[in-house]
Amino acid sequence: MSLPLPSAHAVRDLRAAIAAWRADGLTIGFVPTMGALHAGHIALVDQALARCDRVVASVFVNPAQFAPGEDFDAYPRTLDADAAKLAGAGCHLLYAPSAREMYPDGFATTISLSGPAEGLESAARPHFFSGVATVVAKLLNQVRPDAAVFGEKDYQQYLVIRRLAADLDLPVAIEAGPTVREADGLALSSRNVYLSPEDRRRAARLNVILADFARALAAGRLADEAEADALEAARASFDGVDYMTARCADTLAPLGPGAVDRPARVLGAVRLGSTRLIDNRAVSPAG
Ligand code: AMP
Repeated sequence: MSLPLPSAHAVRDLRAAIAAWRADGLTIGFVPTMGALHAGHIALVDQALARCDRVVASVFVNPAQFAPGEDFDAYPRTLDADAAKLAGAGCHLLYAPSAREMYPDGFATTISLSGPAEGLESAARPHFFSGVATVVAKLLNQVRPDAAVFGEKDYQQYLVIRRLAADLDLPVAIEAGPTVREADGLALSSRNVYLSPEDRRRAARLNVILADFARALAAGRLADEAEADALEAARASFDGVDYMTARCADTLAPLGPGAVDRPARVLGAVRLGSTRLIDNRAVSPAG
């Protein structure tokens, strides 16, 4: 298979490419993904390019973050198209390791997390963040970038990775990139392809509900009342609601029931048929 940009499939080849750049004194940015790339991923590549001389993007559908019965087998895999998009964006290297390269026989280490990893996504997907953290720690050690960019779309994941890098003294700046949305406000996601046309229309409600929720809190509404309204709206719009809540923006700790007096984030996870959507919005308290 020939891809339209340099690519590495083994750690050894990745390290050789990176060593050559380091020998020239170049800085390196990194964008980890699971592929099926869309404009949200490419915006993260743009952000890394703005800050670093060379950018590596990885495409790896990480089996360790899927539970049995989740969509690991069905997850869209579009490596040729991904490579074309990365080449078009000016990305310098695609790293697409096999599962065997990442998890060779005898692999026996998993990162265990608390703090921002607790609750929210973990309630529905208890093994998700340890799978994410383990693969991201490996990828960061393999690439050893100066900066790595993660999407605010997965806000809890971004905080988990930021915590991981700080706690394990990883010498990398963890940056967040803003969420890229469709014209109707739906956050771009590789999983949106699962939605039927009817569900795709309903999906746009998630951003509307979160934006209303964030606006109410910013205007000084009591957090427990605003949350009850958002929850009711989400229950009326979707087939299921895993959570719809406001949290402290830095730690994801619960807020009190009163008006919000510090930076906060509203976060929601809902189900449309068998598809699960997540999204979030910043809340800036009135001054
Ligand atoms: P994924 O391939 O879905 O695991 O995502 C790879 C990276 O892209 C993660 O840091 C995501 O948060 C980020 N990402 C996914 N969707 C978006 C989006 N709509 N806007 C910005 N970043 C995104």
